[in-house]
Amino acid sequence: MEFDSSRRKFLQAGLALPAAGLIASHCPDAAGQTPINPGYRTLGRTGLTVTGVGCGIGLIPDPAVLVRAVDLGVNYFDTARVYEKGKSEEIAGGALRGRRNRIVLASKTDGLTKADVIRDMDESLKALRTDHVDIWHLHSRDTPDSITDEAVEAQEMLKRQGKTRFIGISAHDINAVVDKIIKLGKHDVVQTTYSYAIGSERNSAIHKLHEAGIGVVAMKVIVAMAGFMPPKNGTRVLKDEGPLAAVKWVLRNSDISTTVPYAKNIAEVEMNFRAMSEPYTPRDETMLFARNQEIRPLYCRMCYECKDKCPNGVPVTDQLRFLSYNDFAGDLRQARSHFMRLPQEIRNVKCSDCASCAVECPNGVEVRNRLIRAQNLLA
Ligand code: SF4
Ligand code: SF4
Repeated sequence: MEFDSSRRKFLQAGLALPAAGLIASHCPDAAGQTPINPGYRTLGRTGLTVTGVGCGIGLIPDPAVLVRAVDLGVNYFDTARVYEKGKSEEIAGGALRGRRNRIVLASKTDGLTKADVIRDMDESLKALRTDHVDIWHLHSRDTPDSITDEAVEAQEMLKRQGKTRFIGISAHDINAVVDKIIKLGKHDVVQTTYSYAIGSERNSAIHKLHEAGIGVVAMKVIVAMAGFMPPKNGTRVLKDEGPLAAVKWVLRNSDISTTVPYAKNIAEVEMNFRAMSEPYTPRDETMLFARNQEIRPLYCRMCYECKDKCPNGVPVTDQLRFLSYNDFAGDLRQARSHFMRLPQEIRNVKCSDCASCAVECPNGVEVRNRLIRAQNLLA
């Protein structure tokens, strides 16, 4: 294993990763006396020990970044069957070969029917070159109806078969589905959006999940706060250490088990990793506050206050989220890929045809202008 200053700092902070720690609920110190360690958290009732900084695998990951993450000690990895029609899983499967027993691996299915969920699992296992995943999520379930009985039944069956150790739900709008998830009582893990830009409006739902013993994974933790401006030529340029501050801010919430920031290159994965051994400082707060003000008209906080408010059926939050993949993460491919999955009749709606917009954003997003940009760029 490569041993450099990033990993050394992690080790000095007492955060060394034991391979066997994946099934323990604590990481004792050398004397076996101290079970609390700020770099590790327990993933709810799974009992899995995970690093607070995980790794979002993304659509087309760089294998070297994934390998570097494992070598640093990051142990939670997240992908999805739908990412580039399985290509993300295939690349991850190759990169993580020989390292599988050192990580907790999560993937997701878009399937609504039993048959689709089962088919996706078999294809995911093949692509990931493993005989099981650790977490198998239902992907993008932002309404209670999207958590279908037969999809949950299929998840439970796959768990009994040992193809997944635990089951989960991934949701952008956790406030809309938290009660259903808790009432069902079947899911071990929930992944949801959470960041400085989003603020505290998810805190109550996240706390409810935590209290119910469900492990909470935070996604979209750095997208807006990374210090990028809308990139030119698809090139993402880091202006400062905003990503590091953004991950540190999320980790201050002890209801969060882990995070899945996406890193495009080794410098970024190393920066994210530092969030486990460095304190959140007043300088971080100043930087994030300033950045948050700067992006106010541009970045949708995914509060869903404008849900169903467009008389022409535009899914405002979704289209703005897709745009953010380009404007804040420099990934036009990802932005287009999501946009093109919308139904054709929705893609045909042009906000430029409206003289004014019926949607008012309480967070100050210039909705019509941003949607016009999204539709021109991504359609
Ligand atoms: S556009 Fe505004 S109101 Fe709508 S989800 Fe985004 S932040 Fe909330
Ligand atoms: S401009 Fe506003 S009201 Fe018109 S289609 Fe777009 S979101 Fe809907």
